[in-house]
Amino acid sequence: MPTPTERVRRAERSSIRIMFDLAERHDGDLVRLEVGEPDFDTPEHVIDAAAQAAREGATHYTPNAGLPACRRAISETLAENFGVMHNPDEVVVTVGGMEALHLAILATVSPDEEVIVPGPTWPNYETQALLADGSFREVPMPAESGFDLEADRVVEAMSDDTAAVVLTTPSNPTGRVFDRDECRAVVEAAADHDAYVIADEVYLGLTYDGAAEGIAAYTGHPDHVLTVGSCSKAYAMTGWRLGWLAGDSHLIDEVTKIHESTTACASSVAQHAAIAALTGPQEPFEEMYRAFRRRRDLVVDRVGEIDGLSCPRPEGAFYAFLETEIDDDSLSIAKYLLREHGVVLAPGSGFGDTAPERLRLSFANSTERLNEGFDRIEAGLREY
Ligand code: PLP
Repeated sequence: MPTPTERVRRAERSSIRIMFDLAERHDGDLVRLEVGEPDFDTPEHVIDAAAQAAREGATHYTPNAGLPACRRAISETLAENFGVMHNPDEVVVTVGGMEALHLAILATVSPDEEVIVPGPTWPNYETQALLADGSFREVPMPAESGFDLEADRVVEAMSDDTAAVVLTTPSNPTGRVFDRDECRAVVEAAADHDAYVIADEVYLGLTYDGAAEGIAAYTGHPDHVLTVGSCSKAYAMTGWRLGWLAGDSHLIDEVTKIHESTTACASSVAQHAAIAALTGPQEPFEEMYRAFRRRRDLVVDRVGEIDGLSCPRPEGAFYAFLETEIDDDSLSIAKYLLREHGVVLAPGSGFGDTAPERLRLSFANSTERLNEGFDRIEAGLREY
């Protein structure tokens, strides 16, 4: 019997997925706050544009790097919304931000080179580094400052083996937006080591306290930054699987070769949907954004009112990274909250080794369900 490769066997299932599966099998009423996607449906005008495109024959392969109109729409959105300047030919349209990250890592990390990520961190970077036969190093950021990026710690961990540093801002799981100067210092160090910064900015459209700016917009070394974005979160389009990678044209040309032999191109229909989302009416998205911001305020208030509960203030995305006073591992706490109190959170152990005792709450849910969820969390913490 042939065995799967070491590469495949090393990839681990995340504890977030474990909670998701338990929730799916549960019979009673659950408040699902573990899910990392908007609860809103894709707006009508986007669906209409995609359906019309399909009826008019957009059912074929597109150019590998994407439809010219889609690359142009992404290039203009990056410039207008986030100050990131790339020509359309410096953009490749991908199957979600996920593929963009995978391409970025495959294109920058040689075997035995290292990917560094400040922790706590989204788990998929590690798997992607291992799939590139590279290694992965999480550099913990301090809880006292809300897990904000401290460039010194990252720079100290870097060496000539470092090929890429991933900066996720706004952050999943903390919701923090990294400070410009800290990001700039990391890019400078990356340039010194001939490495790249992969700016995972899939949540940049959901930034609540001040202007959203891409790292490539303000660094002195934009050629050392690869920008990853997506329609998934800010446009409520997770199921369309439409993202992008933007960077220096030389690297984008190289990356397109891998993209060509793995996915060929992003879905034609999804690319038409993205054009409508990025260039069409913005009101539906602005409404969602305002709803997320109101929910963020609610989360800050409710966390502040519950004894023994705290979190860094979420400044973007839709996550709060909760600290409790319970001395147990987060998967056990999460399973208990699900089983006994009907509320589902993602265990912090699914986000690296920096804060495995915490729990991630997603506020991509209605105000009413969020309030119900907090009532259940409060009761659960009291009775644990
Ligand atoms: N990066 C981060 C930090 C995420 O949380 C996610 C999705 O949860 C992604 C990238 C990928 O999103 P998508 O592939 O849907 O664009």
